[in-house]
Amino acid sequence: MTPVAQNYDVAIVGGGLAGSALAHALSATPLRIALLEARDPRKLEQPSFDARATALANGSQRVLDTLGIWDDVADEATPITCIHVSERGRFGAARILAADEGVPALGYLVENRVLGEALWRSIDRESNVTVIAPATLESIETLPDAVEFHAASGRRAQTIRARLAVAADGLNSRVRAELGIGTLEDDYAQSAVILNCRPEVAHAGRAFERFTPNGPIAILPLTCGRVAAVWTLSTSDAERVMQLDDAEFGDALQQAFGYRLGRFLEVGRRATYPLRRLRSTDLTGPRVALIGSAAVNVHPVAGQGFNLALRDVAVLAEVLSDELLAAGRDADSGSASVLERYATWRLDDQRRVASFTHGLIKFFGINSMPLAVTRGVGLMAFDLLPGAKAALARHTMGLSGRLSRLARGLPLVSNRSGLD
Ligand SMILES: Cc1cc2nc3c(=O)[nH]c(=O)nc-3n(C[C@H](O)[C@H](O)[C@H](O)COP(=O)(O)OP(=O)(O)OC[C@H]3O[C@@H](n4cnc5c(N)ncnc54)[C@H](O)[C@@H]3O)c2cc1C
Repeated sequence: MTPVAQNYDVAIVGGGLAGSALAHALSATPLRIALLEARDPRKLEQPSFDARATALANGSQRVLDTLGIWDDVADEATPITCIHVSERGRFGAARILAADEGVPALGYLVENRVLGEALWRSIDRESNVTVIAPATLESIETLPDAVEFHAASGRRAQTIRARLAVAADGLNSRVRAELGIGTLEDDYAQSAVILNCRPEVAHAGRAFERFTPNGPIAILPLTCGRVAAVWTLSTSDAERVMQLDDAEFGDALQQAFGYRLGRFLEVGRRATYPLRRLRSTDLTGPRVALIGSAAVNVHPVAGQGFNLALRDVAVLAEVLSDELLAAGRDADSGSASVLERYATWRLDDQRRVASFTHGLIKFFGINSMPLAVTRGVGLMAFDLLPGAKAALARHTMGLSGRLSRLARGLPLVSNRSGLD
């Protein structure tokens, strides 16, 4: 027997960092939200919520603050007061300082587990968000006035109908595939080895981005004197270093990064992520919007992926709440005009960040001597050019381009309206 469909205004597929942030943001509106997640959110073993830490840009910090989430994570967030960019074996280094930019921090490091827990705790308190988990989307059908999903929860089949479906189901998005939305992909043939470790010298809020002939290493400040390492290597080298014991691994990391923070005294559990850039050819389909890494997945070199995703969340939430304000009870959250406004607003930023991170990998990945000299000089010149640095800093802080209300510190809705 076909199960009776449950009806919602918005159904979000995927409760990783992007999907759970959107569910939380929309809980401030009268919309009825469904959040479908394949894993058990209480076990927090999701890809988004593992031992990784996320470098949050200032713009993202402000969005989380406006959403009321920041207070729950602030104690475990580490401010980045300096970003130090260098190239191993070459002269020249660039420093971006929070003090020069007139901000208390250039961004904040927060462990994904901490952010994920805060988001899911808040969702649990919201009466207009229904969590359907663990349940996996199996197929999707577009009707004239709604989208219908079929999901499996163990042996139980469920049918969910919504006016708008949001694909927040990550890099290998099933929603995107079901709708036949294409992708443009670049396989970097690289993997990121991630771990937390404890250095001899206090990080003092410094983040290091170090380009080596084998790939970039980011060392980012964490709480309790720890740092998070994101070490990019060719896939075969990553497999090799994953086999090393802790002492051998610590030596290898030390050799690649150098001694700016003294010796690495302890190294934590490691995990690897294969790296590829992916851009969906369309940000929307009929009654469907793509957000987060389902829409764009970038190399982690500049820590931009989740920041980009949170801007998707803030913009989609704003477009939906504007639709409610304008149309009241007649609001259609999956209408062509809602989808068009979302796609038009987000496309430029997504393209820019995807090209910027891809360009960094290409630029620093070519190991020829004259280019290496130019790069060294470029880094030094960049260090002496406050204008260029300020522009880059504003961009990586998530403060450039057209800002959403949430990024400007303004609430999504000042009073509940529309469907109330
Ligand atoms: C090594 C590394 C370091 C990074 N560092 C940073 C950083 O410092 N700063 C930054 O901004 N970004 C960073 N990123 C990027 C960031 O982690 C991603 O942008 C972010 O995790 C994307 O979140 P998401 O919710 O879009 O996707 P995901 O985290 O992949 O979540 C997708 C969710 O959908 C669920 N799902 C999938 N399929 C289905 C289905 N069929 N049915 C139901 N549910 C489904 C999954 O279980 C999962 O919970 C980094 C990434 C990597 C790999």
